[in-house]
Amino acid sequence: MSDEPTPMMAQYLAIRDANPGALLFYRMGDFYEMFFDDAVAAAAALDIALTKRGTHAGQPIPMCGVPVHAAESYLLTLIRKGFRVAIAEQMEDPAEAKKRGAKSVVARDVVRLVTPGTLTEDALLDARRHNFLAAFATVRDDSALAWVDISTGAFQVMPCALPRLAPELARLSPRELLAVDGSGLDDLAAEAGAALTDCHAGSFDSASATRRLCSLYGVETLDGFGNFERAELSAMGAIVDYLELTQKGKLPLLRPPSKERSGGTMQIDASTRRNLELTQALSGGREGSLLTAIDRTVTAGGARLLERRISAPSRDLTLIHARHDAVAQLADDTRLAADLRDALSRVPDIDRALSRLALDRGGPRDLAAIRAGLTQGAAIASRLPANTVTVLSDAAAALTGHDALIDLLNDALVAEPPLLARDGGFVAEGHDPDLDETRRLRDEGRGVIAGMQADYAAQAGVPGLKIKHNNVLGYFIETTATHEERMRALPDTFIHRQTTANQIRFTTVALSELETRILNARDRALEIERGVFERLRAAILDAAPQVGQAARALAEIDLTAAFADLATGENWSRPKVDESRAFQIEGGRHPVVERALKRKSGSFVANDCALTTGDTPAIWLLTGPNMAGKSTFLRQNALIAVLAQAGSFVPARVAHIGLVSQLFSRVGAADDLARGRSTFMVEMVETAAILNQADDHALVILDEIGRGTATWDGLSIAWAVMEHLHAVNRCRALFATHYHEMTALSARLDGVENATVAVREWEGDVIFLHEVRKGAADRSYGVQVARLAGLPASVVDRAREVLDALESGEREGAARPTALIDDLPLFRAAPPAPAPAKAKDSALDGRMKDIHPDSLSPREALDLIYELKSLT
Ligand code: ADP
Repeated sequence: MSDEPTPMMAQYLAIRDANPGALLFYRMGDFYEMFFDDAVAAAAALDIALTKRGTHAGQPIPMCGVPVHAAESYLLTLIRKGFRVAIAEQMEDPAEAKKRGAKSVVARDVVRLVTPGTLTEDALLDARRHNFLAAFATVRDDSALAWVDISTGAFQVMPCALPRLAPELARLSPRELLAVDGSGLDDLAAEAGAALTDCHAGSFDSASATRRLCSLYGVETLDGFGNFERAELSAMGAIVDYLELTQKGKLPLLRPPSKERSGGTMQIDASTRRNLELTQALSGGREGSLLTAIDRTVTAGGARLLERRISAPSRDLTLIHARHDAVAQLADDTRLAADLRDALSRVPDIDRALSRLALDRGGPRDLAAIRAGLTQGAAIASRLPANTVTVLSDAAAALTGHDALIDLLNDALVAEPPLLARDGGFVAEGHDPDLDETRRLRDEGRGVIAGMQADYAAQAGVPGLKIKHNNVLGYFIETTATHEERMRALPDTFIHRQTTANQIRFTTVALSELETRILNARDRALEIERGVFERLRAAILDAAPQVGQAARALAEIDLTAAFADLATGENWSRPKVDESRAFQIEGGRHPVVERALKRKSGSFVANDCALTTGDTPAIWLLTGPNMAGKSTFLRQNALIAVLAQAGSFVPARVAHIGLVSQLFSRVGAADDLARGRSTFMVEMVETAAILNQADDHALVILDEIGRGTATWDGLSIAWAVMEHLHAVNRCRALFATHYHEMTALSARLDGVENATVAVREWEGDVIFLHEVRKGAADRSYGVQVARLAGLPASVVDRAREVLDALESGEREGAARPTALIDDLPLFRAAPPAPAPAKAKDSALDGRMKDIHPDSLSPREALDLIYELKSLT
């Protein structure tokens, strides 16, 4: 047997070798086949059968395949499991290949490389989330981060020093990060949940980046888009290069790159995001996150905008005020808001339809989506009153002026077009006279056939004669075999084609001619429809910037209306945001906890927080037992700041917030074993980051810092951290601790105030009031809480005993708590509930009571043991 691969296998291997690092989907008829290791890996990942086909180098070739029509769901599974997939299609009709010789192989080529960051299919994407592809570039001492959502075309870039990369990735959570080979960014990418793709240094070359970008946008220079540093150009260039590679030259519709202003948004690092559960709950899912609790948008674009705003609240006062104005207008006019939301709910995902059209992956439904979006957009614009606030009037302006495109699409498209352009049937009647004429011919032909059938039936004297169609014979005349003689009696008319068990089939010259005419008309109609599709697609792409703006305007209105709905439905109020360092919240609530409580018909206790006296930022030191609501209080204040600067109203009766530049939140000793660092180490690293970075407009939230180590260590660290925040960072801060000793700080440090979450003790139990009050907690109630948690009664009682001793010792000034513990009576675990006493036991008990160990001699003791043993 020869080891020469078959021609097809040779082609397969060549394509595979040209696309390293990707599974190869090799198109064979109605299947994408995979071979060799790809097949083994894919069969395991997809849980499909692994088979064999032929041999290679003397070994059977493993093979598996997925049907083309169901390929999307398999692709999604593979991408989710971290694979990249190269899709090799047949580039010609197999009949063409046959013409070249019996052994020639159908030409195939990779038309697309599917990677996590380059998806566009609705089925593969989460409509309510962005799908970012990011690139990090370093040129000499400068670095930059660029990112694009190819399914919407948004393209952005900013300078980004390496230490800022983690927080920026946390904010964007890109699906894929491009970096130069050997960048060492593996851990960072993994932490951000992004697949890291190593690229050749050439794709990061800043000079060719400029050329690539200029040719992409058809401009001589990029100056019109802004001034870009070389690192920024390099990062953007890498993205464009990667898109060219993966999309095989079909570039998505990228909006001109926009430079993100540094300092334009509230800085929130990765652990703060995690702690505050902004877009994801600590459990990993979305349920329980702020985003899910407040998402009332009705369009996918609006949901994506909400995620962006929550992930990066603004620091631009004018913008924040304008957004609040808009929410206020819709909150005041609930009829208008409801009207808008009703219209918005019929708005499809314009952004994604547009990007599929640009990548030539679109179909008639995408054209219809643009039509529906622009039509609803115009209706929405006309509903907005003339004297509307800027955010809404700007949006209305972007939604008008699309009439020509809407008319064209209305004229050209049927009401509900099919998904694929391939089979036609989406161009409306009356749009193209040529098409109408061809369709008439095609349909008439079908009518003529009905007439023919009647004629032939009469001619042959066979009333049951039928004209039928199948894919093998085309049109044919069919009668039952019993009529064969009659049919054959007219040999000039009926030409025999086929005899089956019961039927006999004929054709006629006239029928064949008609068939050709019908087929020609059908093909011609399809061709005309394809032409119309291309024209419509081109018309839309010509207007792509305006259509994109309309999509953004719809998202903005949707988000505004959603915020207004939240404000009225949940009784939120407009925050006052200014340049000061105020932080005054009256009646603040935690939107996620409140929502969870409501579901259980509980009610949330609103609380005040005042972190500024005059213009001096204050620090609140919060004590109180576990479960009292300290963490909730801390987080709710951080969330109120996020919401206010995201342009929303806030869950509070009154809120006055001086712009927050940076938000930090840390929780003591969170388990972080996954990263292999000791929990205490993590806590200290994170605390260090705050002390080193927080500026005087920061808002810092520290929950039980120092908890991860021994008491005195922990207390000392917490103490010193507090002093540093107060003296050096001079920022607004909330500090929850169970170290009561720290409450003494308020007397020594100006601007440090004690607050506590009130509890009441009743018959030995604690009742949580969830009320935050000025002052220090009198005690920690840990023992009571432990009892509520179901610790065995014996343990609770013993704990109380130890606590009493420790507390009285403390009052008497004992040097070391352990010394006190030495004095405690020995632990005596309460026996399990006694079984009903039996006679024998009581004899034993009685004897035991009489024993006085101190008066026993060793000999007597031994005798006693024998005696007791006999009683059991
Ligand atoms: P701590 O941090 O003091 O241990 P948490 O903030 O975790 O306490 O709160 C414990 C539970 O108490 C929460 O899960 C919530 O159900 C309830 N809770 C907290 N704050 C409030 C509040 N203001 N109103 C009502 N229930 C609250």
